[in-house]
Amino acid sequence: MNPDTQKLAAGLYLIATPIGAARDITLRALDILTAADVLVAEDTRSLRRLMDIHAIPVGDRPLWPYHDHNGARMRPRIMAALAAGKSVVYASEAGTPMVADPGFDLGRAAVADGHPLISAPGPSAAVTALTVSGLPTDRFLFAGFLPSTSGKRKTVLADLSEVPATLVLYESPKRIDAMLRDAAEVLGADRPAALCRELTKKFEEVRRGTLAELAEGCAVTPPKGEIVVVLGRGSSQDVKEIDLDRSLQAALQDLSVRDAADQVAARLRLPRRRVYQRALELATKNEAG
Ligand code: SAM
Repeated sequence: MNPDTQKLAAGLYLIATPIGAARDITLRALDILTAADVLVAEDTRSLRRLMDIHAIPVGDRPLWPYHDHNGARMRPRIMAALAAGKSVVYASEAGTPMVADPGFDLGRAAVADGHPLISAPGPSAAVTALTVSGLPTDRFLFAGFLPSTSGKRKTVLADLSEVPATLVLYESPKRIDAMLRDAAEVLGADRPAALCRELTKKFEEVRRGTLAELAEGCAVTPPKGEIVVVLGRGSSQDVKEIDLDRSLQAALQDLSVRDAADQVAARLRLPRRRVYQRALELATKNEAG
């Protein structure tokens, strides 16, 4: 162990843990696990297993659970340990705490009470998927899990459709088929995407293609295990607003708002909702003007 970490300064240490391969743990995270006074984990069994693999004894140190269901009850206890000058390490079940995982309220409470909050960074499925997706990495938005019902999911997808960035989403294998079909409908069937499965594990797989191709592939070979979906930017984001307005104004001369929107959305391959909203705005302006 690094001699500098034999005695850890007081504070709350957030460590990232592997998302698959157990050796994807940093030396610093192991040092912190070795030296911390108090161990806190979303899943105490997973942390114990990880520490066993790396031959780090829990010893007589407290090992407390902290998750969404006991956070309010556990926070005062953890804050009291910090106030007593203890070093406390927190690990979520896999990956980086707070990334679609608990830990946010805990970190905020530590900051509010004036305790140091320290990150020992490491794996996260979102960034791992982004880097193997083959899609642009210059600007990305992590949107976590989409709602589980189709209606709400489509509303969120419509909100995300104009974000000029690669989108990174977590999804359960139970819903991946429905999610990809909804995404194809709302964002366009030809939107480039990647389905990244079981990253860093034995059956790691990356399927790349359009949303329509990925949805079709899921129907034939349903993907199992843990999944991240990465969505490239739509071609719609390259279409200048002025082109949209010109096309809509021309179509509105002969067609209803609804028909004009349908026709232009299909021709420019833009999300129908966005085109319909713009068509309504233009029609209202035309009437007023
Ligand atoms: N905190 C974690 C992180 O930093 O990635 C995420 C925790 S979230 C509760 C679990 C979700 O992350 C899974 O449902 C899946 O979408 C994604 N995930 C976790 N491990 C993964 C892996 N090895 N391969 C693909 N996706 C993974």
